[in-house]
Amino acid sequence: MTVDFTKLAVQGVQGLRAYQPGKPIDELAREYGLNESDIVKLASNENPMGPSDKALAAIQGELSDLTRYPDGNGFELKSALTKKLKISADQITLGNGSSDILEFIVKCFVSQGDQVIVSQHAFAIYGLVTKMVGGEIVQVPAKNWGHDLPAMAAAITDKTKIIFVTNPNNPTGTWNTKSQLESFLKQVPEHVIVLLDEAYFEYVDEADYPSGIDYLSQYANLVVTRTFSKAYGLASLRVGYGVSSPELADLMNRVRPPFNVDSFALAAAVACVNDEAYVRQSKELNDEGMRQLQAGFEQLNLAWIPSVGNFICFEIPGRAMDIYQGLLEAGVIVRPVGNYEMPDHLRVSFGTQDENQTFLLKLKHLLS
Ligand SMILES: *Cc1c(COP(=O)(O)O)cnc(C)c1O
Repeated sequence: MTVDFTKLAVQGVQGLRAYQPGKPIDELAREYGLNESDIVKLASNENPMGPSDKALAAIQGELSDLTRYPDGNGFELKSALTKKLKISADQITLGNGSSDILEFIVKCFVSQGDQVIVSQHAFAIYGLVTKMVGGEIVQVPAKNWGHDLPAMAAAITDKTKIIFVTNPNNPTGTWNTKSQLESFLKQVPEHVIVLLDEAYFEYVDEADYPSGIDYLSQYANLVVTRTFSKAYGLASLRVGYGVSSPELADLMNRVRPPFNVDSFALAAAVACVNDEAYVRQSKELNDEGMRQLQAGFEQLNLAWIPSVGNFICFEIPGRAMDIYQGLLEAGVIVRPVGNYEMPDHLRVSFGTQDENQTFLLKLKHLLS
């Protein structure tokens, strides 16, 4: 008799499906016999600019300490963040990517039968980490593809433990204003945690866009997450952080694996955290990509969802998966978003000017 381990797994895990990342370049090359250098990947909101020299030098400097465990408290990175963000070190939780923080907060507060509120079209990881521990996801319908914060506040029940707010949201690129966020925070009872995911913070320059850090002194139930994966160009290293009240940070640090951020990631993040020039260049390249792709969609008569992130969703009614497949065969990887209840859209990250051009040319060819 063989054992059915799936039946033995905890109930939350039995119902899960593994997270589907963007297709890696080498996988597409293997599957379609393409050259890796001919492939354009615009599927994971990665920084197209290439790594910063500061990050490369910092990693080099760590090589001789390969046999040592990393600094489990991330002293230097926390020191740099306290100065940059005007917070104290005991407010910080370091993560192996900011995704780690999403999991920590759920582990601290959610068990079987508890509810977690998310918006429709929200980032998939929230559902994954919640269901893992037996929590129930309460999904609130989106408004114009974005978070309907009043409706999310109205969805709070006795069982609500956490509300995830993504600003701007991935995959829709929609965002909430200062006044929307402020009225929302006022409405949420003190014992319900608000996790404000600001993974794309550095790309947004709308005057009305709030920085979650500004509200921490007023709201002890607020956790703000940011990452080095996007505008800082360090996705491969996996480093991000949460900022919160010291009490929430203390709880999250209790469930954090002791060496969750490795020495290379710590050193590179320290080297890059004040690299305003790199972030500014990332942002400029991103703005150019935004203009280039919007102009391209307009020419092709395709609708898109206005975005403030480093990606955009465009609409191809009834043909999204065909076009996704056609683009793959032509060596261009974008992201299907059917699992985000957006079966008629595809999400494309902004690349270099050449990558964007290749994408638009292949797309035009498939549509004609
Ligand atoms: C990319 C992304 C993250 C950050 O992921 P890391 O784990 O920091 O690489 C978090 N939230 C959202 C919504 C994202 O799109």
